[in-house]
Amino acid sequence: MTIELRSDTFTKPCEHMLAAMHKAQVGDDVFGEDPTVNQLESMSATLFGTKAALFCPSGTMSNQIAIKCHTQPGEEIICDQLSHVYIYEGGGIAFNSNCQVKPIEGNRGRIHAAQVEAAINPDDIHKPISSLVAVENTSNRGGGSCYQFEELQAIKAVCLQNDLKFHLDGARVWNAIIANGENPKQYGELFDSISICLSKGLGAPIGSVLLGDVDYIKKARRLRKVFGGGMRQAGYLAAAGIYALENNISRLEIDHQHAKMVGNALLKKSFVGKIAPIETNIIIAEIINNHTAATFVDHLKKYQILCIPISASQVRMVFHLDVSASMVETIITVIAEM
Ligand SMILES: *Cc1c(COP(=O)(O)O)cnc(C)c1O
Repeated sequence: MTIELRSDTFTKPCEHMLAAMHKAQVGDDVFGEDPTVNQLESMSATLFGTKAALFCPSGTMSNQIAIKCHTQPGEEIICDQLSHVYIYEGGGIAFNSNCQVKPIEGNRGRIHAAQVEAAINPDDIHKPISSLVAVENTSNRGGGSCYQFEELQAIKAVCLQNDLKFHLDGARVWNAIIANGENPKQYGELFDSISICLSKGLGAPIGSVLLGDVDYIKKARRLRKVFGGGMRQAGYLAAAGIYALENNISRLEIDHQHAKMVGNALLKKSFVGKIAPIETNIIIAEIINNHTAATFVDHLKKYQILCIPISASQVRMVFHLDVSASMVETIITVIAEM
């Protein structure tokens, strides 16, 4: 059986999730009449303590709607240079919002409040208006790195002083919450908008949720229609999201343990250089000494273990609910015997 470590987006719905989808009550969600979508939205808002929520087909769409809602054309968005919104959304910030980015060189995808403050443009007609700060927690390209919550609070203080909105790309925020013993309501209180993926480690086949206050989500709902994301009997998909929120959050801890176990196995090998600190479910390891990322990936592939090179010398492995304890043993054995 294939061991899929390329991404936590490869998860497939389990039998119980499929049963929940099959049983879902549905209606036309563009008319606001899908009870299961409404339930997912109110459940998500309650978990994070926000006033409202919007079910979106993808995390990219929910980030892009969020940014469009917060900005006017010609404005500037401050974010880390490795941010998904900046490097992995097809230029959506320019395409959809007609805004530009001031990329910041952070630490494994995380920026400091002082860097944000320094990046804000003065009131000068030469300069774009700085209007939004977007952070990512955990950081995907940062190898699943987490923010200290105090740092997010410090960035929020800078936003308040300078009249900037604050968006969280929380595709994997549940991994951060579980790893650090946080409460989702802390996030709901701090951010003007939060995008959360149901289709990563939580295991739903599709879907993200955008959180915010009532007026903001009303505007977002209009934009979702404009973006072509108004869905009809989407309750079948929302049911998978509800199942994920009810059953797959606390188990993320297991994925984090699995990542650490495989990380320890890698560290024993002479062909492995630096490994970024393993904080959640992602490993980014440097491959050295006559091996390259490509030769490492090819070797594992012979044992049906799939992972991806993210540069000539770095590989990435992502752990999720379809990687079992016995699969982790297999991975460790294959690495030990290399
Ligand atoms: C996966 C991901 C998204 C959204 O991706 P979709 O594939 O569009 O659902 C957004 N941000 C981060 C950090 C991600 O990892």
